Parts: sequence; structure tokens; C-alpha cells
Amino acid sequence: MNKEIGVSPGIAIGRAFVLPSSVCEIPERMMGDADLTEELDKLIAGIRSSKSELESIRSDIRELIGEDEAGIFNAHLAILEDPIFQNEVREIMRLRSIGAELAVQEATDKFASMFDLLDDDYMKERADDIRDVGNRLLKHLLGESEEVESAIPLEAPYILVAKEVTPSGFVKLGPSNLLGIVTVMGGRTSHTAIMARAMGIPMVSGLDSKLQRSIQTGDLLIVDGDAERVWVNPDSSIVEEYQHRKEELEKERHSLQGIVSFPPVTKDGRRLEILANISSLNELDRSIQEGIPGVGLFRTEFLFMDRSAVPSEEEQYRIYREAVVRHGGNPLVFRALDIGGDKAISYIALPEEDNPSLGLRAVRILLARKDLFRIQLRAILRAGAHGPIRLLLPMVGSLDELREARDVIEEVKQELHEEQIPFDGDIPVGIMIEVPAAALLADLLAQEVDFFSIGTNDLVQYVLAVDRMNEAVAPLYEPYHPAVLRLIRNTAQAASDAGIPVGVCGEMAGDPLALPIWLGLGIREISMSVQSCLPVKKALLDCVAARCEEVLTDALRCKTAAEVRQKLSLAWEQPRQPLTEEAPT
Ligand code: PEP
Ligand code: MG
Repeated sequence: MNKEIGVSPGIAIGRAFVLPSSVCEIPERMMGDADLTEELDKLIAGIRSSKSELESIRSDIRELIGEDEAGIFNAHLAILEDPIFQNEVREIMRLRSIGAELAVQEATDKFASMFDLLDDDYMKERADDIRDVGNRLLKHLLGESEEVESAIPLEAPYILVAKEVTPSGFVKLGPSNLLGIVTVMGGRTSHTAIMARAMGIPMVSGLDSKLQRSIQTGDLLIVDGDAERVWVNPDSSIVEEYQHRKEELEKERHSLQGIVSFPPVTKDGRRLEILANISSLNELDRSIQEGIPGVGLFRTEFLFMDRSAVPSEEEQYRIYREAVVRHGGNPLVFRALDIGGDKAISYIALPEEDNPSLGLRAVRILLARKDLFRIQLRAILRAGAHGPIRLLLPMVGSLDELREARDVIEEVKQELHEEQIPFDGDIPVGIMIEVPAAALLADLLAQEVDFFSIGTNDLVQYVLAVDRMNEAVAPLYEPYHPAVLRLIRNTAQAASDAGIPVGVCGEMAGDPLALPIWLGLGIREISMSVQSCLPVKKALLDCVAARCEEVLTDALRCKTAAEVRQKLSLAWEQPRQPLTEEAPT
């Protein structure tokens, strides 16, 4: 049975528009030698018109959504122009004497199924990109109009229901009338999901295909991206309940705007910086629009996805510099490339691994591929000449790793110095505390770094031996487990003894319930996804830091996660202060 997954949050209520699956008739033509030249010309013309169509979609999406999402179409252009793909089509035509259309379909199926077989969600989703490119080329060879485009119900807003929605289908549908999306195929890392999130469109994937087929255009649907549910023709009582929830969510979002300008302090005046985690310049813009005063974690690896080659030093430099300039002096922490595990990059060859999250990941790759590390370091250090930034190293587990990485940083600085290229010579260098070994050795590591950032996402997975990607063990993934709490305390204590700052950048920081932990431990900075910043700030304004210290002392004595959660919730026992009446100063 499929498990529905909310790949883009929010609630949509509206009528379904079911996208007809495209069934195009492919002519099965046999050819003589003379026809082959003609057929090859047809193929070249088809590739040329697909290319210009892709270029125009790319420029539309650049204007409509942003540069990062437009990058998806760079990947499509790279597939279309890939000589291996084109040669495969020509070979099939030549050896089997069949027409261009059938050869394109066969080559597309061959490459897409190679990606389908890979045991990695990100790579599997690249199969959709290959099919998307193959279908586009076929459409041009067959001289057909874009089915998706001609099928759009232009007048009314609608919820799109489809087996799958490709990124270019998404663009063609024109997101302005799109209330929500429901698909059978797709996951959180699919490009369509990335774009839906960027546009604030709720989306649920993983729908049971029988249920999908039973939905008719015009059916009433509710898409709940938060609860990961789709309702088909629900009772009026459910519709009313959801309408009420949707209004409440909108009111809540609206009322939160009122606290944007409040300083992030508790009732008794303790300050806790609430910063954003971002992975693109678009997200940076959104974070600036929301009034978030800095970035605690820039996951730079996402800039390496949706491309066909490593971005050059100049390309990376331009993006990092742009981030620094747009941020105008606010805190900005660049994390060095954190790939491997669930984050694969198609053009960086990594070995097949049985346990990828225990394998070649993050700093281990940076040290194995110092060429990649150096290019990125040069670009980050150069961006530092335009404003204050910090550098964060992912997944450091020992002093040896830290020292080796720091040696590379010093060598790169020396190079830039000799080349007389401006850079930040005093960039603070910190490490993620996300491997239990690092949390246990925090006192030693603190002597050799400028700051710590606790990555609870991985820390929880490693200390509890629970794969963060595996739904089968999801109930065991427990951030409030007493063992996690002890490692966090150990890290904060070591940082405080060494006089270095410590922040938290895992998802746990986005949970208001964890606030008494940070306040109780004297942590001064937490960062989280942009949407979580204001709700967490609202909870912070209602906290009393002194009470949090007592609550944390009790929580640290608890034996189970349930007890820890219960104790932490007591931090808000006192009545809450109304949001808008008086701003704390
Ligand atoms: C973490 O592990 O907590 C973290 C912030 O990094 P990522 O989620 O990118 O692994
Ligand atoms: Mg991590």
C-alpha cells in the first residue's frame, strides 16, 4: 500500500482536474538506407526545436519563480544534448532500421529505467527528468501540441491530480490557478515538489494509484500537506472543519507578522537569535522578506544539484558573494559541501555503499576530493571579502579530520594571498556537532574551532542508530531521547568552558517545545527552516528563561523521552502574553 507523503505543506480545498495520461501513437516504420539520412535530419530538427522550447521555458521560470528553479531546465538541456543519449538514438535507428520516434522512445526508456533501478530517491527522480525530455522530443518529432497545455482548465482554480507531474508540466500548467497537487509518483526531493514549496502550493505524493484512477475531474478534494492526507468528496462536516483550519492557519500567519519587529527575547529579557536555514538565494530572499535577521546554515550542496558538472570557482563565488551582499552584514554561515548519504550528486562519482549514512559523506568526501573542497573554499573565502561570514564543516568526528581540513583551509588562504586575490583571512571556522564522537570530544574540539553548530538531524540518527530516512523505524527517531539530551548538554558545556559560541541548526530547533533546552543551556543562536522562525519566536516571547533553567534541570533527570517532553511543556505553565498588546523591549 502506498503511504501518502506531504511534500509541500499547507491546505488546499477545491475541484479536481485530472490530467489525462499522455498516450501518443508512435509509428512503427521500417526504413531503407536512403530514408536513414532523412530520418536523422528529422531527429536533428526535433532536438533543435526541443532545445529552443526548453530555453524559453527556462527564461519564463527564471522570471516567474527564480534562478534556482530555472536551473532544473539546465539539467533538461544537458540530457537533451548529451552525446551518449543522442548516439544511443542514432544507433537504435541504424541497427534496427526504425524511425526516429520509436528510437527516441526506446533510448528514453533504457536510460530512465537505469535511474529507476538505483537505490536512491534523488536518482530515481532523475528518471522523471529523462522521461520529460524524451516526451518533449517525441512531441516535436510527432508535431503534436503540448497536451498538458491544451488541457488546462483556464478559468477556475483547481487541484491537479496526476500519476506524475514533471517540472515542465508544472510550468506549462501555470501555477497561478493551481491550488494544490496530488500525485502517485514523486517524493520530497523531486523537482516538482521543490517548485511547489517555492510557490507555496500544497502537494501530496504517494497516492494509491487505484484511488488516483477513481478521482474524476470536478470531484471535491482536500489536500492536507501537513497531515499528509487527501480527501475525495468528503462530507460537508469535514469540508467545514478544513475551511475553519485553513482560516485559522491564515489568521495565525497574519498575526505572526505582528512580532517580526519584536526583539527575540524572553519575558525576563534573555536574547536568543532565531536565524534561517536556507539552500538557495531564493530562500535567502524569502527569509529577508520574513524579516529574519540572518542565516545560521546555508546548505551549499543544493547549489550543486540540478546541474551536469561541478560549478566553477567563479560561479560559486558569484552566488556566495550575492548572498553576502543581499544580506547586508547580517550573520551568514556557509556550510561546506555536505554530500553523500541521501544527498547524491549525479556527476560526482561515489562508490556503491551498503550503509551510505555511515559511509563516504560530508567532510570525509571533502578530504578524499580535496580538488572539490579547495574550489569551494576559494569561492567562500573570496565572498568573505564582501561582508562577515562563517565557515562550517559538516560531520567532523575526530581531531584528525578537523586538523586535516584546517590545513587545507590554511593552504587555500596562502594561495589566495600569493595571487593577491581579496579574501577573508579571519573567517571563523566551526564544525557541526552531529556525530556522537564529536559531542563526546567536544571539550577537545572546542580548543581548535571558533564555534559549534549542533546538527540534531544527524546527531539523533547516529546516537540512536535510527536511520533518519527509514519510515519503518520512524517512531524510534526521538529527538527528546535522554541520550540525545546528554550529548547536547555535553556540547554546550564544553563550548561554554572554552568560551566559544554554540548554535543549533537541526530540525529540532524549529520545535518550540525544545526552547527550554536552548535557554536552559545558555545557547544564544538557533536556526531552522524559514516557515518555523516566526512560530518559534512567538513561543520564545512567552518563555521565562529562569524557569527554563529549572525545567531543563528536571528534564535532564528524566529516564524516558515521554518524561522529557512532559517536563519541557511545563515551561509554559504561566499564562501567555497576548501577541500584539505590548512589545517586549
Ligand atoms: C543536521 O544534521 O542536523 C543538519 C542540520 O544537517 P543536514 O540536515 O543537512 O544533514
Ligand atoms: Mg547533518
